[in-house]
Amino acid sequence: MQKICIIGDGMSGLIAAAILGQENIKIDLYSSKEKKIKSKKDNRTTAISENNYKYLLNKFNLQSSKFFWPSKEVNLFYENDNQIKNFLNLKEQNENLMYIFKNNQFIRIIDRIILKNKKIKIVKKKIDKVDFSNGSILVKKQKFNYDLIVLCTGINSDLYKKITINRNIEKNYKEVAITTTIKHRSDIKNARQYFLNEGPLAILPFSNNSFSVVWSIDATFFDENYKIIRNVLKSKIQTILEKIKISSIDNIHSYPLYLNLKTNYFKKNVLILGDGLHTVHPMAGQGFNLVIRDVKKLSELISRTVKLGILISNSNILKDFFNSRKPENNILGLGVNLTNMFFKNNKYFSPFRNILLENVKNFDFVKKLSKQISNKGISI
Ligand SMILES: Cc1cc2nc3c(=O)[nH]c(=O)nc-3n(C[C@H](O)[C@H](O)[C@H](O)COP(=O)(O)OP(=O)(O)OC[C@H]3O[C@@H](n4cnc5c(N)ncnc54)[C@H](O)[C@@H]3O)c2cc1C
Repeated sequence: MQKICIIGDGMSGLIAAAILGQENIKIDLYSSKEKKIKSKKDNRTTAISENNYKYLLNKFNLQSSKFFWPSKEVNLFYENDNQIKNFLNLKEQNENLMYIFKNNQFIRIIDRIILKNKKIKIVKKKIDKVDFSNGSILVKKQKFNYDLIVLCTGINSDLYKKITINRNIEKNYKEVAITTTIKHRSDIKNARQYFLNEGPLAILPFSNNSFSVVWSIDATFFDENYKIIRNVLKSKIQTILEKIKISSIDNIHSYPLYLNLKTNYFKKNVLILGDGLHTVHPMAGQGFNLVIRDVKKLSELISRTVKLGILISNSNILKDFFNSRKPENNILGLGVNLTNMFFKNNKYFSPFRNILLENVKNFDFVKKLSKQISNKGISI
C-alpha cells in the first residue's frame, strides 16, 4: 500500500488526514506536541458553505448535524454618517446559506474519526527538514520515505522555502482580527456582517443564545485600545444590535492578518496545503472553505491514481492539482482583498461606495453571484 505523510495538525492537516484516510493508502500524520493546549485556546468558530457542509456530512457519514448551526440568511450592513444601514439580504428559498461550527468541537470530531482509522498513524513529532531530492522527511536525524508529503504547517513555515522560490502574492494588512464568544438573551439566529468605520465585524451564531464575533480592525487602533478592547467591543455590539441583552463575553483573542497566495504549490512529491497555500482575509470566511475544496480535489486525484495502480510519485497528481485549484484560490483571495479595500476609506472607492451600496439590493445578479461563489466557489 502506498504511504503518504501529512505534516501539521491544524484544521487543514486534520481534515486532509480524515478525508485522504478513506483512500486505499497509509497515512502518517505528524502532529506538533503542544496541540492540546493550542486547540483549547482556539475560541473561534468557522462558517462553511452548504456545499462543503453536505460534502463533509456525506464523507464522514455523520447522521447528526447538531454541532453545525445553520444560518438561513446573511444580512449585510454598512456604517455611514453614524448610521447602520442594511444594504443586502442574502437568502436561499430551500437551503441554508452557511453552517457554523466551533473549531474546538470540530477538531474533536475529526480527531475521533482519525483515531478510529487503522490506516492512519499519528506521530507526535515536529518535523525539522524535508529532503526534496528523494521525498523523505527528517525526524531526529532519521529519514522516512513517502510517496507523497503534504505540508499543512500554517502560514509561516520554513519547510516551504524550497518550494516558494518565486515571489508570492503577499500583503500585511496591518490589521488584527479580534474574536470572542458572546452569550445573550436575544433573538439572533442568523449570520450578519457589519462594515463599520473601524473594520468589518461578523456575527456568527452557533446556538440560540450565543454567537461568535470576528472584528478586523487596524493594528494601530488595536494597540491604542488594547487595555480596553473588551469595552470597545461591547459598546460596538450594543450600538449595532440595539436591543441585545448580553449575558457574558468570553476572553478576547487576536490574530494578525495577512494575504498570502503561493505561486508554486509543490516540488517533486512535496505539496503545500491549507493556510500555507492561501491565507486570506477572514472577512468573508473563505479560508477553510478553500481548504475543503482543495482536499476534495486531491482525494479525487489520489483515488483515481491508486485505483489505476500508478505510483503517486510517478503521476501528474500535483500538477493537475495545481492547475485545477490555483485559479479559484487566487481569484477568491484577491476578490476578498478587493472587497476589504472597497469598504476602507480611500480615494478610489469612497466617492461612489455609498451610491453603489444604496442600490445594490436592486441588482439580483449580484445576490445570485455572491451566493453561488460562496457556496460552490468558482468553477473554471
Ligand atoms: C480570525 C479568523 C477567522 C476565520 N474564520 C473562518 C471562517 O469563518 N471560515 C473559513 O472558511 N475560514 C476561516 N478562517 C480560516 C481558517 O481558520 C484556517 O483556514 C484554518 O484554521 C486552517 O489552518 P491550517 O491548519 O492551515 O493552519 P494552522 O492552524 O496554522 O495549523 C498549522 C499546524 O501545523 C503545525 N506545525 C507547524 N510546523 C510544524 C512542523 N515543523 N512539524 C509538525 N507540525 C508543525 C502547527 O503546530 C499547527 O498545529 C479564519 C481565520 C482567522 C484567523
